[in-house]
Amino acid sequence: MRIDVVTIFPAYLDALELSLVGKARRDGVLDLRVHDLRDWAQDRHRTVDDTPFGGGAGMVMRPDVWGRALDDVLADEVHGRRVLLVPTPSGERLTQRLVEDLAGADHLVVACGRYEGIDARVAEHYSVGPSLEVREVSLGDYVLNGGEVAALVVVEAVARLLPGVVGNPESLVEESHATGPQGGLLEYPVYTKPAEWAGRAVPDVLLSGHHARVARWRRDQALERTVRRRADLVRALDPDGLDRDDRSVLARHGWFVPPGEPPVPVTVRAGRPPDSEALARLAAATFPLACPPHLSQADVQEFIATHLSPERFAEYLADPDRYRVQVAETAQGLVGYTLVVLPRTAQEAPYAADVAALVHARPAAELSKIYLLPRFHGSGVARALLEAARAEVADVVVDGRPVGVLWLGTNATNRRAQASYRKAGFAPVGRRRFQVGGSLEDDVVMAVDLTGGTAGHGR
Ligand code: SAM
Repeated sequence: MRIDVVTIFPAYLDALELSLVGKARRDGVLDLRVHDLRDWAQDRHRTVDDTPFGGGAGMVMRPDVWGRALDDVLADEVHGRRVLLVPTPSGERLTQRLVEDLAGADHLVVACGRYEGIDARVAEHYSVGPSLEVREVSLGDYVLNGGEVAALVVVEAVARLLPGVVGNPESLVEESHATGPQGGLLEYPVYTKPAEWAGRAVPDVLLSGHHARVARWRRDQALERTVRRRADLVRALDPDGLDRDDRSVLARHGWFVPPGEPPVPVTVRAGRPPDSEALARLAAATFPLACPPHLSQADVQEFIATHLSPERFAEYLADPDRYRVQVAETAQGLVGYTLVVLPRTAQEAPYAADVAALVHARPAAELSKIYLLPRFHGSGVARALLEAARAEVADVVVDGRPVGVLWLGTNATNRRAQASYRKAGFAPVGRRRFQVGGSLEDDVVMAVDLTGGTAGHGR
């Protein structure tokens, strides 16, 4: 690859004789040439700038001087793809993707600006015609005095992608900002000897010699770091590259992965009185989806009007001794909720007596509702809501006894729901009849022992 840098401070680029880039030049992988822009000035003072048309502070670099310099540099025959890079804080952001793209070029010419920058006609002039691409590129949202640092950055970032420059090409694969299904994350933290320094030990797993565990630990760390530092990168993750463990790390930090979509931040929190309207809307949208097809629209609508109105939700939210509501919320609004009904007495079991016997008359709370927009099915949000509902009842004491059981009824025909409750630790304990409008429905009753045992065979 050939790179030409044009600058008024050629000595600034001396650093490119050092390290890997210096070696690449000596090895002939990189043909790097640095030019002094003033060599193309035509006056005694070697002037390259003048005052801005339209007035204002500072000086602007002259297009005629730049034109002569670039024409000369570009006059050398170089076959293949040629790119003129113009560093400027108003350019497109330099990213690893752009660096990878530039590494595929055959000839890069970097035009280092100073003062208020280069006359705008220069970039325009060289953009015309198919033989040269012009890219105006910014290092970031801050202003430097000149483009030389940007030239150093581009040369270093591009050169290390050229074959033979970095000794072990494997080391490029796992890096921050790498591509591929495992890519898109910041790199995990790295450690070396001594194993203990300043009272700080290297994480045990790295000394274990267990490759799979080390790989998993590193992946977890990369995910956690990216979640904490770069939400923009999390939002751009490829869902196909995220396995179950990745998803649970993300879920612990409040990010969930709807099927086929990148991760979305979802907050699970206690419901508050102002949520009642949004809860009623969400309930009206989700309840019909969980109903079996034989139920009439009229019955479904009657149930919604009676039990899922804004007024009903306002009642639930105003009475925490009896009801506990948890909601799942994204920036766009509520996407799921749970409603737990707490028992008034230790004996209260508002379903068939034989089921009550199975849970051994421990105070039992009912998970009356858990609903989620279909977009979030399979995203882990349902699990997070369930855990929040369980945590809600964990310290509730009724008649001096802690609530020991969480139970729910779900339509016998809804196998998908039963399977997911089973995964969450619920076991079937019986049946009950459930009125939806004019229809008496068959429900499976499932329960989970909150004290760690099995609900069906309690102590
Ligand atoms: N007046 C310009 C503006 O506000 O956009 C800033 C000019 S700056 C003082 C002078 C030169 O530094 C620019 O022409 C460019 O070559 C370089 N430069 C400054 N900040 C940069 C950045 N964030 N990325 C790339 N180059 C930058």
